[in-house]
Amino acid sequence: MAQEPFIVCDNLVKIYKIADLETMALQGLDLVVAPGELLGVVGPSGSGKSTLMNILGGLDRPSAGRVWVDGQDLLKMSDAALNRYRRSKVGFVWQQGARNLVPYLTALENIELPMTLAGQGGRKKRQRAEELLEAVGLSERRNHRLAQLSGGEQQRVAIAVALANNPRLLLADEPTGEVDSATALTIYETFRRLNREYGLTTLIVSHDPNIARHVHRVVAIRDGKTAMETVRQSALNGPPATTAEEAVEAHEEEIFEELVVLDSAGRLQIPKEYLEEFGIKGRVRLELTEEGILIRPAPHVAHTAETILSEMMSAPGARRAGALGRLVTRLRQRAGHVLHPGRD
Ligand code: ADP
Repeated sequence: MAQEPFIVCDNLVKIYKIADLETMALQGLDLVVAPGELLGVVGPSGSGKSTLMNILGGLDRPSAGRVWVDGQDLLKMSDAALNRYRRSKVGFVWQQGARNLVPYLTALENIELPMTLAGQGGRKKRQRAEELLEAVGLSERRNHRLAQLSGGEQQRVAIAVALANNPRLLLADEPTGEVDSATALTIYETFRRLNREYGLTTLIVSHDPNIARHVHRVVAIRDGKTAMETVRQSALNGPPATTAEEAVEAHEEEIFEELVVLDSAGRLQIPKEYLEEFGIKGRVRLELTEEGILIRPAPHVAHTAETILSEMMSAPGARRAGALGRLVTRLRQRAGHVLHPGRD
């Protein structure tokens, strides 16, 4: 039987209202994440990545659509239940790791702090803190205070802190945003190890173009919707490596395939550069071929009378006469069903 998904976002919409201004941060986003998946989330600034993380983390509620995490419907939860969900099921890691840490406490004490706040005490608490410190590879730094740790080490303590209450979901927003690439590698390695050892479902928001190398799958968000996915084509599909050198080579040659996401209503976002290359806009021709569906530019069709009229109405007085002339020409063309590709 297929495994139940851990996260399901179905047609998720989030509208922010400030005074009279509405921003549609999520515009019908669909996303399914399997339990134990390590997922990268990329996309231009303002595309809705943080909004999605805030909703999945129970920090915010969507305006419409549906969202389930670990079998729980986040939309139907009371405020108290959503608070409990956030505290017990989710761990957060932010761009500035130190934001989760107390500067005058040691690494170990920082990890113990959320457990103390949750009412845990005694030997179990110490044991769990030590286990987490080991899981992020910092056992030797247990008694170091924040100022005595490097940026990357602080971020790893922050990851351990996020896990102190044993969450099922780890959400990281640009965790490598402020570190150099060597440090970023150790942080990714930490996420991978935790994902493997604890089966922790992990979402990492990133601007790092190389993130596909460190996660199972990358989804790209554009204009509040999932637009593309990059999946790792298992290098294991080819013949198995017989020497260590071959194994290393296979790893380096790992192939990543970019896929366009088709949403539940059959819509897809075609990359802008593809559309520009073929001058495709407005309408297209779909052709069924043996291998699939071919999208061709439709012959240039004259604007509809409505769009020309509205253009005309918004034109300043002097330009109206010209716009009116064009409208008459186009309407004449339409009446005679004469369409001149490229000449209009
Ligand atoms: P990203 O994380 O991809 O940069 P965000 O999710 O932060 O994108 O933002 C998506 C859109 O929603 C942006 O246009 C942003 O200005 C707007 N937005 C985000 N949070 C708020 C908020 N609290 N109030 C109003 N608008 C917001």
